[in-house]
Amino acid sequence: MLAQRLNGLHPYVPGEQPTDRTYIKLNANENPYPPHESVGRAVQQAAAEKLSLLGLYPDPDVDSLRAEIATMLNATGGCFGNTHVDGSTCSPDERNRLPFTITPDMIYCGNGSDEVLSFVFYTFFDADRPLVQPEFSYSFYPVYCGFYRIPMLPVPLRPDWSLDTEAMLRAAQEHNSSIILANPNAPTGIALSRKAVRDMLLQAPKDRVFVVDEAYCDFAEESCLPLLAEFKNLVIVRTFSKSLSFAGMRLGYIVAAPELVRAVFTVKNSVNHFPVDFVAKTAAEASCRAAWYYAKNAQEIIRERGDFTAFLRGKGWFVIDSSTNFVFARKDGRTGDDIYKAAKQAGILIRLFRTPGIENFVRITIGTHEQMLALKKVLEVL
Ligand SMILES: *Cc1c(COP(=O)(O)O)cnc(C)c1O
Repeated sequence: MLAQRLNGLHPYVPGEQPTDRTYIKLNANENPYPPHESVGRAVQQAAAEKLSLLGLYPDPDVDSLRAEIATMLNATGGCFGNTHVDGSTCSPDERNRLPFTITPDMIYCGNGSDEVLSFVFYTFFDADRPLVQPEFSYSFYPVYCGFYRIPMLPVPLRPDWSLDTEAMLRAAQEHNSSIILANPNAPTGIALSRKAVRDMLLQAPKDRVFVVDEAYCDFAEESCLPLLAEFKNLVIVRTFSKSLSFAGMRLGYIVAAPELVRAVFTVKNSVNHFPVDFVAKTAAEASCRAAWYYAKNAQEIIRERGDFTAFLRGKGWFVIDSSTNFVFARKDGRTGDDIYKAAKQAGILIRLFRTPGIENFVRITIGTHEQMLALKKVLEVL
């Protein structure tokens, strides 16, 4: 009864999502801070005053949300971690000042960036050439390659776990291929500088789309958004899930040249006209207006990340320098499974990848100060 194409599917396995909410969850890179109270208020108000809107189809193109996202990006430069906050006003750090203004026609919104990524794969990557990607990166990329039957060309990381940009470029040039990378990368947490990405874009095929997934960029130093002025083949994918405490509401988006955005709209309108529902749109708009609150939270998470990294290193762990809201670490003499189980026993979930090559690493989301204290207590005696 099943279609043959199902045989080739290997679904993505997310971090555990127990219905038992007593666990401290440091396994899915969710934000430990709740959404700003104005987000809850906006949703309540919309339900109270405009209840009938819940029974009508929403705006298929979410124009007002795209305008709010553009305003937020122009005000923060796409890096909450070093956004300057004055009361409720944000301004970008010098490093992230945009050389142009992001406009709503450069933005496409979808139901989480996983869905957005799936449309990006469908819109820009053909089955006639391999897609160049890092060997260890977001594990949804290989899943979508399987789903859309796009051949993969995984490029091994360097011995220090950074992306081998030269090898990736050689592969892209040889096959006239697209490149996709997460920057900062997951699960390693390492960021490429904007200059390094620009150097790649200069040498990569100009007639192929180059995708940078900036899911964690708000915890890094630099965004690649300024490069959109120079490269019409650059597609930047971003999410509200991590830095905007939105994983339960689902909102992801693309920033790219309007021609590319229009192509993704065509795909969206061939699958589902309304991927962003009225409630998510209302909540997301309120979130953009509270960017100052999320910027402060990101800065707190970055501080906590520094403390936790120093703690682990003090205990003899190997910890990769992180530009994200998680750390990727291992300890000699302990398997990944040992560490995962010790934490789980104590009521704390962390992420273990059973992939050969990284099986002894754990990926630990940075939580609140209290949550990290609880975890430190467990790891202290490991
Ligand atoms: C979390 C994550 C996403 C997906 O986020 P959504 O919750 O689907 O918006 C995309 N890319 C990377 C690298 C991620 O870590």
